[in-house]
Amino acid sequence: MNDELTVRTKELAGLNDDLRNILESIEMAVIVIDSRMRITLYNGVGQRLLQLNSMTHGMPTIESLEILFGCENLVGPVQQVRKTQLSITIKKEKQGRHYDLTLYPCRSLASEEVTGVVLTIKDITEQFLAEQQIRLSASVFDAANEAIVIADENNRIISVNPAFTEITGYSKSEVLGKGPKILNSGKQTKSFYRNLWHTLEESGCWKGEIWSKRKNGEIYPEWLSISALKEAGGGVSKYVGIFSDIVQSLKAQQLIHQQANFDALTQLPNRNLFYDRLQQAITKAQREQKLFGLMFIDLDGFKDINDALGHSLGDRVLQEVAARMAHIFRESDTFARFGGDEFTVLVPNLESETDMIAPTEKILEAIQIPIQADDHELNITASVGITIYPNDGREAETLLKNADNAMYSAKAEGRNAYRFFTQEMHEKAQRQHRIVNEIKNAVKFERFIVYYQPVVDLQSQRLCGAEALIRWQHPVRGFISPDEFIPVAESLNLIGQIGEFVLAKACDFIAGLNNELGVDLSIAVNFSSLQFVNSSCVDKWLDMINQSGVGTSNFVVEITESLMMSHKEHYVQQLQKLRSQGIKIALDDFGTGFSSLSYLKKLPVDIIKIDRTFIRDILVDSSDASLVESILDIANNFRLEVIAEGVEDEGQAEFLKARSCGYAQGYYYSKPLPEDEFKQFAVGKRFCDKIK
Ligand code: C2E
Ligand code: CA
Ligand code: CA
Repeated sequence: MNDELTVRTKELAGLNDDLRNILESIEMAVIVIDSRMRITLYNGVGQRLLQLNSMTHGMPTIESLEILFGCENLVGPVQQVRKTQLSITIKKEKQGRHYDLTLYPCRSLASEEVTGVVLTIKDITEQFLAEQQIRLSASVFDAANEAIVIADENNRIISVNPAFTEITGYSKSEVLGKGPKILNSGKQTKSFYRNLWHTLEESGCWKGEIWSKRKNGEIYPEWLSISALKEAGGGVSKYVGIFSDIVQSLKAQQLIHQQANFDALTQLPNRNLFYDRLQQAITKAQREQKLFGLMFIDLDGFKDINDALGHSLGDRVLQEVAARMAHIFRESDTFARFGGDEFTVLVPNLESETDMIAPTEKILEAIQIPIQADDHELNITASVGITIYPNDGREAETLLKNADNAMYSAKAEGRNAYRFFTQEMHEKAQRQHRIVNEIKNAVKFERFIVYYQPVVDLQSQRLCGAEALIRWQHPVRGFISPDEFIPVAESLNLIGQIGEFVLAKACDFIAGLNNELGVDLSIAVNFSSLQFVNSSCVDKWLDMINQSGVGTSNFVVEITESLMMSHKEHYVQQLQKLRSQGIKIALDDFGTGFSSLSYLKKLPVDIIKIDRTFIRDILVDSSDASLVESILDIANNFRLEVIAEGVEDEGQAEFLKARSCGYAQGYYYSKPLPEDEFKQFAVGKRFCDKIK
């Protein structure tokens, strides 16, 4: 009996141990309360949770449970347990702690009678906090002013917030599953997006200003930040884009910029902005070693208009003159209202100081035109002072001060005038300016004449053609060399007109002479590279040549290599067009400039003209002699005709003839001659064939 008891006791102890182990292995708190509301059993989790100890063991614990779960809620179910013997689940939160509480009736095995209640309590604080966090995030997501767009790892949109819809006009359902590309404005370049993705991949985020497109097509600027969210493995799991519409702040910025830098009356840059640009121009000109000009313009007698007719009319006059002057300047110039009736202009990248003259004259002319304001016809003029960087100063203040001084000199000289700061510059400018006006007049009144220099066949010593050379007989200053005025005409854009004048004259003359004398002379005309800038000119020249009756095969176009380097392809195409019509192309001044053999290969050339500087010393300088011999060799290899220029004596002619040079031209045969003298020369010669 005793043995059996011992065995049973052992078994019970074993069961008890098992029960303990089971209880301890449960992650929830398990607490057993008997029908008298005393705690009779609990596991470790329960002990920690309710802070039970040996003192509380077996004590009525309703109080501690009340503290834990709150009074009203607990009393209810426990009473219910007693009465109805049912299990009840409640949830209650207290002071931020969270529990899941389950009550089970505790039954006696013998009678099914409820003897107490088993409480299982699960601490769900963490889950609660996480839920709270999610709720918080969700409300931030919904309430944010910034648009938030979340895309999956394939950059497909999976969520957007209400602000997104407000800013872009797209509802959530319209964008889900799409790429953020639907917002592309097309204003960013491909390389912009490449850089964006590169930064995002490298650093996990990108921030910047970007132009986007709303659903209604409107393009707007936004401030965008994109983050790539990574998984534990390192791959991107989501992209989160947050952006705000910055149209308003940009507009405000622009307004501030406008007010700080522009004049409200004329909308021109103000003194502030002008100073900035002047400083920039100084830095740039210093770096690039360039000249720039500064004009100081002051209206003459403006104060009288203001005093007599009132400020509002004065304002209108200022607006009118500002508008007239604004037309004159290039985009790269800065034209500013410096204050009151003073205007300033910055003209960058001058080739020469005299580049300032043309715009200054235009200003004086434009302002002089009477201004109609109400019933008044106002005659206004201006005085202009000009300074040049770096000649007249290297600092902004100095340049402005000197321009101001120069402006006062112009006023002192009787107004409606301009003055450069230095006397020397002023005189130089005036001189140049005279030439400019005189060239314009010479073109207008056809004061140029064309001379003809014979071209001779070296072997037969017969005349075979002529080169047309322009002459300018100035009524006061006498003969002015083309070397002096052709470059000026080029810079004034008058070379086209002059060139066509020579072309027409020369064709008429030679055609007439060929006809009259029954000969077949060729005529060579010099062309400036600038004449080829406008490609439609070639057709015009061809028309002129054809109409004159000179015949394209008798026409030679003389070009130099110097300027053609700039627009080479364009130039070559036009030469080819001329050549396809039978016209010959001669490369002038060969050996000077950039002459290189590669040109001979690339350019459509028929004739080379050896520069006279090589011919000059051909008999005394052996290196010149061998250079000419080499040129003749090369020409022979390339099957080009050669004309030696500047042949002044018989020795030179014999040297060239002995080396099979085809043609010559120079004072030995004749200087350039006016039409009638050339005709006499031609009559006195026997004729050979034209240049082949
Ligand atoms: P270029 O085309 O090389 O013309 C030859 C120049 O050498 C001419 O000067 C001519 O008078 C001069 N010359 C001729 N034979 C001799 C000589 O034996 N000894 C010396 N010392 N000089 C001689 P010119 O007429 O003063 O012309 C100078 C340059 O002006 C020309 O050089 C040409 O580049 C340009 N030019 C002349 N007329 C025109 C034209 O109608 N249009 C264009 N674009 N340029 C022209
Ligand atoms: Ca020539
Ligand atoms: Ca020449």
